[in-house]
Amino acid sequence: MVTGTSGCVFCGIVAGRLPSRRILEDEHTVAFLDIRPAAPGHTLVVPREHVRDLWDVSATVHGQVAAMVHRVAGLLATALTPDGINVKHNSGSAAGQDVFHFHTHVVPRWQHDGLDLTWRSP
Ligand code: 5GP
Ligand code: ZN
Repeated sequence: MVTGTSGCVFCGIVAGRLPSRRILEDEHTVAFLDIRPAAPGHTLVVPREHVRDLWDVSATVHGQVAAMVHRVAGLLATALTPDGINVKHNSGSAAGQDVFHFHTHVVPRWQHDGLDLTWRSP
């Protein structure tokens, strides 16, 4: 399967070579639904540029991702009316990072949803 930079699956999604369910995008970032959601509406926000992790991302790009996370939170609040939201990022395999293209998880939460905050990707 053709992916993206260095065989990166999220580069493939950004380039449109791999399928995803995009919910928002701008010049710098893309937001799409996680393929194995921890909760309904679980969204990933990625920079279009391939950067590996929190040490690799510039402050500028980090800010662009943060701005998109903010937009996604607003969209999810309107669409799904959750009771809360978690914004989570993993850098390094020890922290649970499985895909080494920087991304931030945006996870809608509901009272008593029982979601384990220590969740990580399967
Ligand atoms: P990490 O553990 O690296 O913080 O999170 C990676 C996330 O990417 C996981 O939640 C996983 O379900 C998601 N993911 C992995 N591959 C794909 C894919 O091909 N498409 C989508 N939409 N999500 C993916
Ligand atoms: Zn990438």
